[in-house]
Amino acid sequence: MTSTYRYVFKGLLALMLFGIVVSCSKDDEIVDPTSKPDPEIAQLTKKIHADSIAATIGMLQGMGTRFALAENRRDVAVAIMNKFKSYGYATARLDSFQLNVYFRNQYYETWQYNVVCTLPGVEFPDSLTIIGGHHDCILRSTEPESPLDVAPGADDNASGVAVTLEIARVLKQSGFAPRTTIVFATFAAEELGLYGSQHMTNRLSDTLAKVKFMLNNDMVSFCPVADSTGWYLNVIDYPNSVDFRKHAQKICSTYTLLKTVNDNTYRNYSDSYNFYLRSYKSLFFISQHDDPNYHKLTDLLSNQNPRFAREVAKLNCALIVEANK
Ligand SMILES: [Zn+2]
Repeated sequence: MTSTYRYVFKGLLALMLFGIVVSCSKDDEIVDPTSKPDPEIAQLTKKIHADSIAATIGMLQGMGTRFALAENRRDVAVAIMNKFKSYGYATARLDSFQLNVYFRNQYYETWQYNVVCTLPGVEFPDSLTIIGGHHDCILRSTEPESPLDVAPGADDNASGVAVTLEIARVLKQSGFAPRTTIVFATFAAEELGLYGSQHMTNRLSDTLAKVKFMLNNDMVSFCPVADSTGWYLNVIDYPNSVDFRKHAQKICSTYTLLKTVNDNTYRNYSDSYNFYLRSYKSLFFISQHDDPNYHKLTDLLSNQNPRFAREVAKLNCALIVEANK
């Protein structure tokens, strides 16, 4: 098939999709994209800044450790909550839960703290669009320092928190009024067994919440390639979100500089997995560039690529705005 035929085919496909969208547009519909950017989405994604993402990663790294069993775990959650508040979200809050675990032969009884912040929906306030990532981090046991005292976790996962915060900032400061309620969430104790997202999904399920979709960002700032033509993002799906993943890949090529792949090897190893287990549609974004600093003392801001993370944030933002404008 030559490129000319491809354009004709694309045109027919767009007409067919337009027909489908017009005939059955409702709240749970994902509108299919054309390759032409929507001006409102493009305008909003332009407001996402790499500097702002880098500053948040630096702030979180500067807390010394974000290990889930360290004494400062509540301070970490409060710092993130205050960042949401500084953007104008008066109702940003902590959502606590009890966690008792054995870790490296020691028993810990702890309270853990997710951070939850909402932008209320104007048309379907009971329907939720969720974006987030875990805020705790960990060092592998072979690292020389105690994992209780120090774990910078810039890529894993200050980056996912920073992307979540940046979208919250842009949407609030732009006065965006979403159709559904947008929930910005950062999760505690992911590294010990996905506990923060388990707590949230248990609550959602108990209250029969309607979740439009969930976007999980975990390790989204490592990319050693300077030239953006070589930037790759892995878009991970679940059996109930395959079509949505394909849609996200199209959206990615429309609004960002990133190229995408789909490799589901690690899909059970981050917070989106709990959403899938509760039958919610979720995607998991992770840099396709293997991070040599994974769970090491060298997982520092100086080894990150905030311009890459900005593109990931643009993808998240485009998906959220498209579904809510
Ligand atoms: Zn992680």
